[in-house]
Amino acid sequence: MRKIYLLVLGILLIGGLIYWDARQKNPPPRGRLQVVVSGYVPYTIVKQIAGETVSVRMLLPPGAEPHSFEPTPGALVDLHHADAFIYVSHDLEPWAADLAKVTDAQTHVLELGNSLHPEEDPHVWMNFKKARLMGYQVTALLAEMAPESRKETDQNWFVFEKQLDQLEYDFAQGLSNCRYHEVVHIGHLAFGGLLSPYGIKLTALSGSSHEGEHSAKKLVRLVMQMKARKLPAIFTEESVSARLAQTVAAETGTEILPLYSIEHISKRDFENHLSYDALMRRNLDSLKRGLVCR
Ligand SMILES: [Zn+2]
Repeated sequence: MRKIYLLVLGILLIGGLIYWDARQKNPPPRGRLQVVVSGYVPYTIVKQIAGETVSVRMLLPPGAEPHSFEPTPGALVDLHHADAFIYVSHDLEPWAADLAKVTDAQTHVLELGNSLHPEEDPHVWMNFKKARLMGYQVTALLAEMAPESRKETDQNWFVFEKQLDQLEYDFAQGLSNCRYHEVVHIGHLAFGGLLSPYGIKLTALSGSSHEGEHSAKKLVRLVMQMKARKLPAIFTEESVSARLAQTVAAETGTEILPLYSIEHISKRDFENHLSYDALMRRNLDSLKRGLVCR
């Protein structure tokens, strides 16, 4: 086992060195500013505000899970050429915080969630007010890096801010008159910041970082809780095995409804450039249906 591990490590290192060498000889063209982001949350915010004024490269591949990701050697090389490195927080992505320490002196490093109490819940973007502050920080950094594009980025920021206002209003309206006020989630504790402002209680199978296997005991407890309260739906997320969700749904006679954490993005949604707004609107649809809201 150890031999295989060493072999894989060796291949990765050699691959990284070859890649490094190739990129040194052929650095990316210096047209647009190069922004490297940790995962989909900063990716979608930067894309929306920057538009085409910068080029954005995401380190976490679509489908991967941000809490325990291990970056490839190529990530270091991309970072070396970056004008900016933007990530959510050391609480959400300890690996990104490690990368931030080895960036070049001229690379702007922005930890979006730094002042938003990520230690309480690392999923800070789930709260619309905090998402607004994240967007504002991105706008300010872009204005500093590329003042010539300021008119465009300010306009995009204005649109994003309006979308956040509308989301906040629509969530408050849409979830104000529901038969149920409880979400049982066969995933990790990512949605507390989204649900707590509307008095919706969240119980999740895993903790806030997917860490540690959920216990069979906890699963049984959730099934009993659902039966006792006669909840009509269970909520799941894409990083959860579909079979697990189907088993719970069959056991409780409930409907499976998806919630989108945004930190985790499927390949398909990534290719379709689904925005923060679009993913939050899907969340609202699922919640209204599952909680039976009028
Ligand atoms: Zn998470």
